[in-house]
Amino acid sequence: MTRSAEHVVSEYNDKDEVGMKIVSRIDDVRSAVMQARGEGKKIGFIPTMGYLHDGHLSLVEISRGITQFQVMSIFVNRLQFNDSSDFTNYPKDLERDIAMAGKCGVDLLFTPDDREMYKNALTTVDVSRLTDNLCGAHRPGHFKGVFTVVSKLFNIVQPDLAVFGQKDIQQAASIEKMVFDLNFPVRIILAPIIREKDGLAMSSRNKHLDQQQRADALALSSGLKHAEQLILGGERDVKKITHEIESIIKKGNPDSIDYISVVSYEDLSYIDRIDGKSVIALAAFWGTTRLIDNMIIEVAGDSYKCIY
Ligand code: AMP
Repeated sequence: MTRSAEHVVSEYNDKDEVGMKIVSRIDDVRSAVMQARGEGKKIGFIPTMGYLHDGHLSLVEISRGITQFQVMSIFVNRLQFNDSSDFTNYPKDLERDIAMAGKCGVDLLFTPDDREMYKNALTTVDVSRLTDNLCGAHRPGHFKGVFTVVSKLFNIVQPDLAVFGQKDIQQAASIEKMVFDLNFPVRIILAPIIREKDGLAMSSRNKHLDQQQRADALALSSGLKHAEQLILGGERDVKKITHEIESIIKKGNPDSIDYISVVSYEDLSYIDRIDGKSVIALAAFWGTTRLIDNMIIEVAGDSYKCIY
């Protein structure tokens, strides 16, 4: 029998030895954060949708290096799902998440439900232009849902710092812009992509891949590695690079490819030649599972650096 989230949380909070506190109410987040602030602690924040993996935990690790009180949220935000079955099937395992978050040094775990976050809500937040391309072009309404929930979470937690992964580079870049435009007093840190040993970017969605799809999906990171080799060899032409990435991804038999795009790092606009700081971003489906990956490239004259 699956136990309710409420049951799992109250059972955890009843244990004597707990170092991490779990709360589901906004008021309880506010008072725990106020107390930590009163003790002179800086607040770090890691928003997630749960089904935690080492990628999520790496964000906590980074935050712990800079701040003294770590708040993590776990909330599968229905507003950012443009596909209702994707929302319903999003992987969940609160007991496992609690154990992982507690071990990696989270002080406060916020697990609100839909009602706590959105009761009677009529307001949304959006960032234009930066969301025109890449995932923004393929997932209508997705980013509006992300910015709305992140704005709410920032107002609830009021962190000094929040960590976001390069894995969702368009999300991180647009949140940085939103923070600037709306004067949120929070510092945004971009964390590197954590990968499985064979190169697959960690993702909660990887759970949905069967064995064959899991092997095939390596085509994404292989495509990026191949692009690095091309850039090392002096190739700067975006058409040629995307063409070669496409043939590698197709060898992995994806059910469809959403995009293979090269954009400028500054404003995520499409570019023809790789120059300065740019991003190669990929999205493709294996079955109904949509996976994304990317690589940041810094080119200056003959020298280059690829971060993926
Ligand atoms: P999610 O739970 O998928 O919404 O992700 C929560 C945060 O974890 C976001 O900032 C993601 O970019 C980040 N994240 C997801 N996967 C990884 C990964 N493989 N490496 C580093 N950060 C990640």
